[in-house]
Amino acid sequence: MPLDKVTQVAQTKPWHGDIPVYGQYTFGIAGERFFRDIKDKGRIMGAKCAACNLVYVPPRIYCERCFGELAKWLEIPNRGVVHTFTVAHADLDGNRLKEPVVVALVKFDGVYGGLVHRLGEVEPDKVAIGMAVEMMLKPKAERTGSILDINYFRPIQA
Ligand SMILES: [Zn+2]
Repeated sequence: MPLDKVTQVAQTKPWHGDIPVYGQYTFGIAGERFFRDIKDKGRIMGAKCAACNLVYVPPRIYCERCFGELAKWLEIPNRGVVHTFTVAHADLDGNRLKEPVVVALVKFDGVYGGLVHRLGEVEPDKVAIGMAVEMMLKPKAERTGSILDINYFRPIQA
């Protein structure tokens, strides 16, 4: 975010390329409500920009395209698709896991962004991009108001 007002367009420099971090940011105000909805109501909420017709998940308070405030929240279906995934065989300290863990970016129909989470009830070699998955919540009594209130996403049985 520029701190100084740009007075001469010629002074600006374009910044090409992608930011290699996906969906990593401080949850802040929008995040608190997002997690409260998962914990108390078992639902995923998105924030909609009416001007851009974009729905953000996780929700944020400003639209990153038009910088408009995102005041309208709406419930997102608890079903999505595997956009990309990876199979982890070691934990963050490099220790080998007993069972490999599948971590996927789950995207939702009509939604910008998505959620990075574990997949469950599926063998790693059966996971595929485009696979339809559904959210599996922890029992309400075990939820703490974090992303881990979602236990995992599992393939939708045909
Ligand atoms: Zn917008």
